[in-house]
Amino acid sequence: CGIVAYVGQKEALPIIIKGLKRLEYRGYDSAGVALIDQEGLNVYKKKGKVSELENHLTDKGTLSSTIGIGHTRWATHGEPNDVNAHPHYSSNEKFAMIHNGIIENYDVLKTDLKNKGYVFQSDTDSEVFMKFIEDIHKNNDCSLEEAVRLALHKVVGAYAIVIMNIEEPDTLIAARKGSPLVIGVGKGEYFLASDATPIIEYTNQVIYLDDYEIAVIRNGSLQIKTIENVETNPYINKLEMEL
Ligand code: GLU
Repeated sequence: CGIVAYVGQKEALPIIIKGLKRLEYRGYDSAGVALIDQEGLNVYKKKGKVSELENHLTDKGTLSSTIGIGHTRWATHGEPNDVNAHPHYSSNEKFAMIHNGIIENYDVLKTDLKNKGYVFQSDTDSEVFMKFIEDIHKNNDCSLEEAVRLALHKVVGAYAIVIMNIEEPDTLIAARKGSPLVIGVGKGEYFLASDATPIIEYTNQVIYLDDYEIAVIRNGSLQIKTIENVETNPYINKLEMEL
């Protein structure tokens, strides 16, 4: 339902939590974040309100990360609970993904992946999407970005996604079709969100990602390409800020 992601020099977690709260008006049943800290790529998620996720996080000590993804879920496939909350890991736990929307052909994809030996933790279409990308990445020996691109040719439905990769701790990969995704362009930092409300306090420069576009934010720079692999020239909108 709601997406917030950050990569830059600041602490990602407070930005993400605050952003998720700004998206609370959209409605949701669970919330979660993924961060890359000293111990690796970690996912924290909880049924209920963002404040319940916050309580859960206070037990974890200091979680320092300058990159992160956060999600509020409005369940479509699988009941609202901790396990079905996002982000979802890949099987090797090297990738984590958040997803808004519905993957209509998840059933076929899931059967196929199960036959290949994939085990599913959740009942969501989103975990199927994550593991479908993982499988393409593995079989084609390609970059994660390329695996995402190939996967988008095969999934049917609506999505806004953001993926993190432990092996590229300065990189966020995002894509959309049918579900909104806004990119906030700061100074050496980037924000991703379902709408501009979590972003406006940090920057007034935003890019509205189009359907069938993939955004790759890597090492402080942004590249947008279509799922046909054609690079596009993003238009930067200046938001009017009400102070
Ligand atoms: N279909 C996904 C799920 O049920 C995503 C729902 C959403 O957009 O929050 O987990």
